[in-house]
Amino acid sequence: MIDVTLERISKQFGNVSGVNDVNVEIRSGEFFTLLGPSGCGKTTTLRMIAGFYYPSAGRILFGGQDVTNLPPNKRNTGMVFQNYALFPHMTVFENIAFGLQTRKQPKAVIQEKVERALAQVHLTTYGSRRIDQLSGGQQQRVALARALVIQPDLLLLDEPLSNLDAKLREETRLEIKKLQLELGVTTLYVTHDQAEAMSMSDRIMVMQGGVVQQIGTPQEIYNQPVNRFVSSFIGETNLWEGIIERMEGDDVYVRVSPTILLHASASHTSPTCNLRVGVPIAVSFRPESIKEAEAQHTDRAGSFITSLIKVSEFTGVSVQYITDADGLLLKAMFVNLGHQLRERGEQVTFFIPKESVYLIE
Ligand code: ATP
Repeated sequence: MIDVTLERISKQFGNVSGVNDVNVEIRSGEFFTLLGPSGCGKTTTLRMIAGFYYPSAGRILFGGQDVTNLPPNKRNTGMVFQNYALFPHMTVFENIAFGLQTRKQPKAVIQEKVERALAQVHLTTYGSRRIDQLSGGQQQRVALARALVIQPDLLLLDEPLSNLDAKLREETRLEIKKLQLELGVTTLYVTHDQAEAMSMSDRIMVMQGGVVQQIGTPQEIYNQPVNRFVSSFIGETNLWEGIIERMEGDDVYVRVSPTILLHASASHTSPTCNLRVGVPIAVSFRPESIKEAEAQHTDRAGSFITSLIKVSEFTGVSVQYITDADGLLLKAMFVNLGHQLRERGEQVTFFIPKESVYLIE
């Protein structure tokens, strides 16, 4: 287990900036995820940590030691690639044993370590199978065992679940998380799937255009996004633009349309938010924080908004509505409690509690 420090690292590919000035400390034993859309620089960052790329600027430290210029095989990292990169002509056992053989470990030690790794990924009886005789999920577990068998200081996972179907992906992410907790190995995980990142990570680093947008726990990233990008990339949200029309103590009123004045809280804002009357501002509120207006809501602070249902979607667990609120797109989500689904064309009044509105500069 080690901590990893990225000190102002950048990677330039000719004129293209792959990664720009990334600063972060990944704690020992932490499950740390790089999250962002395609091309945001997460794989480049991971490759610099693995040693496949050297940074154009900055330093990488493992447990305080500078490894910036060390080749990959001197870093003691275990890596799982998106396509697994298993050796198809070898058996499962031989694939997992490969890293130990190149480290010239005695046969008996290799036997014992491979058997332990097979047990960790629930493939004890599969040692003699060829790779092409395995399902995608089993291949994924062999790749994981191959990375873990060398007892790496750092486990690197590059979109390891993207080739699996949705159900298997969910099961496997739970298994990886369980195993990581048991072993306590510092883990760096790359994904563009925010549900994966949210459910597995201790902390997440959100990137866009090679630049870090926010680093925080899943709750911090979801509940206190620092900017519009993070707010809309992580989960579903209603993101509207407006102008601050009125402020009274903690109450902030934002004009978002001719008929909608949204009631928000001065204490629920992104860190750089500048609250003044007349200032343009973004408001973000999650579809699941919306209520259908009921009499008791008049006792609470918030906004009543009348909206026209455009699309209603029943997913089993929830009911989701896409609606039009005075020309603005408003998404609402309710847990399915067996109520009747509202239909397209119906008018509905929603209540947006003041505390669920988040103000972003
Ligand atoms: P994806 O999820 O699609 O893998 P990513 O977030 O991992 O995306 P990177 O692969 O790190 O993104 O790429 C970051 C940027 O650097 C992109 O603009 C990409 O086109 C560019 N890039 C990456 N590798 C190279 C390379 N070898 N040569 C030139 N440009 C590159």
